Amino acid sequence: MAPVRVTEVTPAPLDLSRFRGILTPSAWEAVARGMERARDVFGSRRVINVNSTARGGGVAELLQGMIAYVRGAGVEGHWLVIAGDTGFFTVTKRLHNRLHDAEGDGGSLGEREARIYAATLDANAGELRARVSPGDIVILHDPQTAGLVTPMREAGAMVLWRCHIGVDRVTPLVRSAWDFLRPHLRDAHRYVFSRRAFVWEDLDPSRIEIVPPSIDAFSPKNQDLDPSVVASILAAAGIAPGRSEVPPRYQRVEGRFAEVSARVELVDGSKPVPPGEPVVLQVSRWDRLKDPVGVLQGSADHLRSDAHLVLAGPAAEAVADDPEGAAVLQEVVAARRQLSPARRDRIHLLALPMDDIQDNAAIVNALQRRATVVVQKSLAEGFGLTVAEAMWKARPVVAGRVGGIQDQIEHGVTGILLDDPRDLAAFGAAVESLLQDPGRARRIGEAARERVRTDLLHTTHLLHYLRVLEGLIAAGD
Ligand code: UDP
Repeated sequence: MAPVRVTEVTPAPLDLSRFRGILTPSAWEAVARGMERARDVFGSRRVINVNSTARGGGVAELLQGMIAYVRGAGVEGHWLVIAGDTGFFTVTKRLHNRLHDAEGDGGSLGEREARIYAATLDANAGELRARVSPGDIVILHDPQTAGLVTPMREAGAMVLWRCHIGVDRVTPLVRSAWDFLRPHLRDAHRYVFSRRAFVWEDLDPSRIEIVPPSIDAFSPKNQDLDPSVVASILAAAGIAPGRSEVPPRYQRVEGRFAEVSARVELVDGSKPVPPGEPVVLQVSRWDRLKDPVGVLQGSADHLRSDAHLVLAGPAAEAVADDPEGAAVLQEVVAARRQLSPARRDRIHLLALPMDDIQDNAAIVNALQRRATVVVQKSLAEGFGLTVAEAMWKARPVVAGRVGGIQDQIEHGVTGILLDDPRDLAAFGAAVESLLQDPGRARRIGEAARERVRTDLLHTTHLLHYLRVLEGLIAAGD
């Protein structure tokens, strides 16, 4: 294997005290006390996160915010990104799909794949060892990094493997991914899953921890935006026609204000989205498990109203560890071409530029706020940050009753869950019911925002992590 280059992402420190204004006094008190304890507990230990992409997808989104706040709290948080080639990411995407009980490309996970996987991670391990000191805490994210558990343990680190994905019902396909990864995982001090149902049946129960993900209320993705700024960002990005009076301004993570200058690609002749008309939105990577073709078909066949459908995802090839994106986008384009011109004009495919991830985030923010109904019709889902993001914006969400989505939405109260996300008629009916009843849509949206405030913000997540890491350090094992 040729030399690889591990890269470091260094989010600027952020002060948690900004959460004071949106939490209850007792919730804030718990956060403030927790962070004081954290400084004592960690001392000079570093907390080093390792994943396989700096942009695109939920894990990168999560690390960006969490590490900034950890650093702001006076703890040495780091984020390293491993390198791999297409062969490696084809294998890890296969693992990703199988852990979601999906065939993916149908390829095998045999000895050849095991060799590709091990060789890439061995090469990365060489570089990582130079950056890790005994006593450091190393958190390895997802199947892409499982092969680093043993080398990191040998480097003297306390090692957690955090798996963000899983299924509610285990099948032979899922087990085949477990079998592939299990030999790499033996030495981890802790296994962290987003929900209890994802825990593998044969891992040491005393080392299991459950920690759900979260969002940052203040990031470019989620910060409050005035409706006039929403309109302005959409116009600047080329999503809405025309130009706006107010600047398309948002606050970047470093604190300064900037104007969105990135422009989206309106894919395959998609038209801009006209202002004032109802919009149904799904934002996600171009991944079959997010079922963008099903969303398109379900909307075309089962929405009675004349709402517009927006499907937005990263520009092809932008997400390093997701080799299937371009092909899936092509499937969506092909499905859209089958529709009548009138239908097609109401379906907008957007490829969002990822060169400046903060501009990208501000565009997603504006899109989510512009939406009348947000959907996440996933067939499987680790957690589904897009759901929490829309809920925080008080949008009513229609989503599959799968994976971590079920932990976020209480059916009928904070959103609508689809028992069978493949049932396109039920999907259409659920979306339509919200479009037809704005009062109910508003009530659901407001309840959703409160749910995020109490349970799904980074502050809650940091306290979860603190509990896990305190336990690990105290156990000293
Ligand atoms: N996302 C984005 N731009 C895109 C598509 C997705 O910023 O073009 C973000 C989305 O807002 C969310 C994350 O990527 O923050 C996706 O996380 P999620 O947990 O929903 O799904 P994953 O991609 O991890 O399967």
